[in-house]
Parts: sequence; C-alpha cells; structure tokens
Amino acid sequence: MSSSSLFGTYARSNLAFVKGEGSWLETSDGRRFLDFAAGIAVNSLGHCHPHLTSVLQEQAAKLWHVSNLYTVPGQELLAERLCEATFADRVFFANSGAEAMEACIKTARRYQYANGAPERYGVITFEGAFHGRTIATIAAGGQAKYLEGFGPKAAGFDQVPFGDLEAVKAAINDTTAAILIEPIQGEGGIRPVPHEFLRALRELCDANGLLLIYDEVQTGVGRTGKFFAHEWSGVAPDIMGIAKGIGGGFPMGACLATEEAAVGMVAGTHGTTFGGNMLAMAVGNAVLDIVLGDGFIDEVAHKGLLLKQKLASLIDGNPDVFDMVRGEGMMLGLKCKAPVGDIVVAGRNHGILTVPAGDNVMRLLPPLTATEEEIDMAVERLDAAAVSVKDAMLKGASA
Ligand SMILES: *Cc1c(COP(=O)(O)O)cnc(C)c1O
Repeated sequence: MSSSSLFGTYARSNLAFVKGEGSWLETSDGRRFLDFAAGIAVNSLGHCHPHLTSVLQEQAAKLWHVSNLYTVPGQELLAERLCEATFADRVFFANSGAEAMEACIKTARRYQYANGAPERYGVITFEGAFHGRTIATIAAGGQAKYLEGFGPKAAGFDQVPFGDLEAVKAAINDTTAAILIEPIQGEGGIRPVPHEFLRALRELCDANGLLLIYDEVQTGVGRTGKFFAHEWSGVAPDIMGIAKGIGGGFPMGACLATEEAAVGMVAGTHGTTFGGNMLAMAVGNAVLDIVLGDGFIDEVAHKGLLLKQKLASLIDGNPDVFDMVRGEGMMLGLKCKAPVGDIVVAGRNHGILTVPAGDNVMRLLPPLTATEEEIDMAVERLDAAAVSVKDAMLKGASA
C-alpha cells in the first residue's frame, strides 16, 4: 500500500517543488529545473510573475468572494476584454477546463432548445480528443481509458476519426446540435487540425443549423502565437471553452459565445458558486494586461519558431530517439521513436520538465515568457536526455 493518503489517480513523480520563478522550479534541497511543462500550459507567464503576484496580493487584502448573486466588477471587465479581443459577445466564468467545456455543451444544447429543436442535443467530436474528466466531458472525449468503469457513457456524443470530413457529414442527423473540436489536439499528441478542415466544419455547421464549438483550453491565451489558435485559420466558432493559460496558475475557466449562440442561457439555466471569483478575476485581468500588451504575442510566435527550428536540429542529431516536431508557437510536440515516458524521465534527470501526450509525443509547453537563452538551454538538456536514452537502448540491445 502507498504511504500517501491521496487517491491513487496519478502515477506521481516524487519530485516536490517548493519554489518557482519565471521558467524555473526548485525543490526543497535546492535542485533547479527548467519548466517546459508549465503546469500543462497553465503557468502562461511562468512562476510568480511580479505583476500577477502583486495583483493577487492586492485583491486578497480587499475582497475574495461574494457569490454570483451580486455584480462582480472584475468579471464585467474581464468579459468585456475577452469579447473585445475575440469573436465572442458573452462570457460565463467557471473554475476549470472541464467546467468551461460543460458550459459550452450546455450552451449549444440550449441554443437548439430555445430555437424550437429540443431533440437536437448531439455533439460530434473527434478521436484523440480531450475535453476533461467530468461525466459529460469523458463522453465527449470518447477515450475508452477514461470511460471504463464509470457507468454508461453520457448520451449525445458521436465520435468520428480525426480529420475525416466524410465521417462528419455522415454523423450529422436530426438530433445533432454541434461539432466540438480542439484546433490543435493537446493531450492527443499536439495534432494540428488543418485550416481547410476547420473551414469545412464551419460550412457544415452553417448549412445544417449546428454550432461550432472550439476547445481552446490548452491552445488559448497566446500559447500558439495568436491570442487563440483558431485565428491562424481565420475560422471563428460560435462557442469556445478556455481555461489553463488565462489563470496563469490560478484555477479558472470560461465559456465564450456569440450573442446568438448564448440565446438560451437565461437566468436560472446555469450557475456556479466559485466561478468568476474575485481572486480569479483579478489574476485573469492581470494575465491579459501582459498577454495583450504590445508585441507580446508576436514575441511568442517568434520564440516558438526558434524553438521549433532548434528541435528540428535536435531530431537530426538523434534520429533513433525522435521522429518529428509539430505544433504552433510555444505548443510543440516531439513525436518520439523511443518510448516517450523514458525520454520525459531522462529529461527530468537532466533538469528539464516536459509532458507526455498521446501518439508517443513529448509536449513542450514553456512559459510564454521563456527567454531565447532558456530555449537554448532546454534544447541542450533534451539533447543530453536523448543521448542517455539512446545509450540505455544500446545497452538493452547488447544485454
Ligand atoms: C486540460 C484540458 C481540459 C480539461 O481542463 P481541466 O481544468 O483539467 O478540467 C479540457 N480540454 C483541453 C483541450 C485540455 O487541454
């Protein structure tokens, strides 16, 4: 039996960090790690960014929580800023990615209901998707490993193969409400959706009275070198879920929608105790102060390109370990030939943190504030890790 009192839901490393600054994490015994995992794309501005820290401390001394029975000025401001910078007209604040996606799904179903089609509740999703761990979002994600043992899969989710437009067309019927997609699959292995595919989905939605929902929980808030990843394609959704990066490490999520798509979400239809909490709103606004500041997102695109080029050289130097690099901005995946778990552990042993994903891909999700020097250092450490993995492979083969 494990000595921990926690649920055993994570196969945790015993690394325990006690301090963070920028792109760096430190253990209690003073070991320093370059954090290219960033809490899985959460610490968008690195650890303890001075602006976020001071705003959070200031708000903490003023007021923490009042309930959504009252007007929360920070919500009004953050919603206004998000709408100003995106396709959206309306925002609902939640506490996590899964909750944001639940709100997206509910908004789409209520839209159909409000337009006299309550039988339209089906959502078409894609193989390899990840939308969260609630009962509805595991059904949306459709992955057997997350559904197993949790009772009947929630009704109303039809999954089709990734990138298969004919399958999408065939799946649309009289009960379909919406199509839900990540512009770049994160947990599925940094799989970008071609722009023309998003365009085709938009056309299908418009032709069939369906809503297009994007899950930008991982791809959003500057991560890909645009404010939102779908901007690369120019194809706007009707509804979009965001979380991770918008909180910079403070738990929060949001559902963004057009006025029309949000038409069914009237008083009493949905709610949350903690969503839009004053501390979260203060931090969310502070994150936007930086991310929407002059040139910040362009700089992310530039550094992402630099990292991608360096990773291409890393692959050239280690063709037995790595296969290819894909992704956009500072959301990059290295498809591996050696088992990704081994490479992630070897990276850790060489002082760099990364995240494994599906399709044997190693995810690199550095803080958007990572410097070019830190990018150089990261690639050097990954190279050392790759060499150690190759050595172990050779030893294994000769043993
Ligand atoms: C992380 C993630 C979620 C779930 O977010 P939680 O905050 O863990 O509930 C949903 N969708 C995508 C694309 C994600 O990366």
